[in-house]
Amino acid sequence: MALVPDVVRRLTSAGFEVAIEAGAGERAFFSDATYKDAGATIVDGETAFAADIVVKVDPPRGADILRMKRGAVYIGFLEPLDEPDISRRLAEHGVTALSMELVPRISRAQKMDALSAMSSIGGYRAVLVAATMLPKFFPLLTTAAGTIRPANVLVLGAGVAGLQAIATARRLGARVSAYDIREAAKEEVQSLGAQFVELEFETQSAEDTGGYAKALAEEKARRQTELLVPHIGRADVVITTALIPGRPAPTLIIEDAVDAMQPGSVIIDMAAVKGGNCVLTKPGETVVINGVSIYGPMNLAAEAPVNASEMYARTLMAMITEFSDGSSFNVNFDDDIFKGVCVAHDGRIVNERISALLTA
Ligand code: NAD
Repeated sequence: MALVPDVVRRLTSAGFEVAIEAGAGERAFFSDATYKDAGATIVDGETAFAADIVVKVDPPRGADILRMKRGAVYIGFLEPLDEPDISRRLAEHGVTALSMELVPRISRAQKMDALSAMSSIGGYRAVLVAATMLPKFFPLLTTAAGTIRPANVLVLGAGVAGLQAIATARRLGARVSAYDIREAAKEEVQSLGAQFVELEFETQSAEDTGGYAKALAEEKARRQTELLVPHIGRADVVITTALIPGRPAPTLIIEDAVDAMQPGSVIIDMAAVKGGNCVLTKPGETVVINGVSIYGPMNLAAEAPVNASEMYARTLMAMITEFSDGSSFNVNFDDDIFKGVCVAHDGRIVNERISALLTA
């Protein structure tokens, strides 16, 4: 849910009038009554989309866009690089559209970083799902019936989701190792008490200026997957999180690696939404190959809807209050954050990457 009662209260105190679509918060356990108590009015969908500023979780599709006023502001996830057509339709309808995926990685924008907030919930949930799927304990146990060795958890991709997965698996007592292509990740992995996996191949300039990983050339990518096979083979659980913005997820787990795992082992492929880091992943499904379960969850953050909504709502509030005081919306292309997130304004696509995708 895009707004939670606490954020509604803060927005109304700041001078905004807030309308909530009836029943919209129910699946995240926020009732219409709690929104009303917080100062919101409860309206139907048609009225909700007619607001000056519309916020939402999933991108607006179908009739939603037509319901918006020309000149209105839309803020939310827009999947601009995967579904540029949504941005095009918003532009054509005269909506000023801000994409939460495009929040720049500068310190002033950290409070608006919805992707990181969702990744962090995803990393936590992935470990809990793996722990319940694995036919073993995570921690070391010394009992009268003998000693149980801790599970080996390998995390591939140590960004926001991966680091949260490492921390969670460590708390559950597993022996954790992790790998990332960015050199900077090594220290973060080690500071969480996990072992950093070093692969012997050259990865100079694997990071772009925004802190994201760059795609590897074909030969290097193949070498990387081969070098990972023995590490994956030793793991009871592999959690993969590797992503490259605007591209399909890189392959990290080839069939040989799955073959090298023990029956009963588990792979949670958090990159399933972008095709997956494992070649055998079926997005949204669990497949079992030679006793190895491979699960490709599509939206782990939604499995913790209370905190996911609270965190998303706070990032949206930060974005709204950065550019509006409740009376007008300040369109300011000289501002780095606004320039970064704005995809459509005044009938045009204003983001070069999206324009290029639409004209390709
Ligand atoms: P992401 O979701 O794009 O990718 C997840 C991880 O996969 C990244 O760490 C990436 O390096 C890794 N990866 C990609 N290709 C790989 C490959 N072939 N092999 C191994 N690993 C691969 O990234 P993210 O989690 O959003 O963040 C990446 C970095 O940016 C982190 O260091 C994070 O702390 C930093 N960050 C900074 C800010 C900020 O400054 N405001 C905000 C968010 C994240």
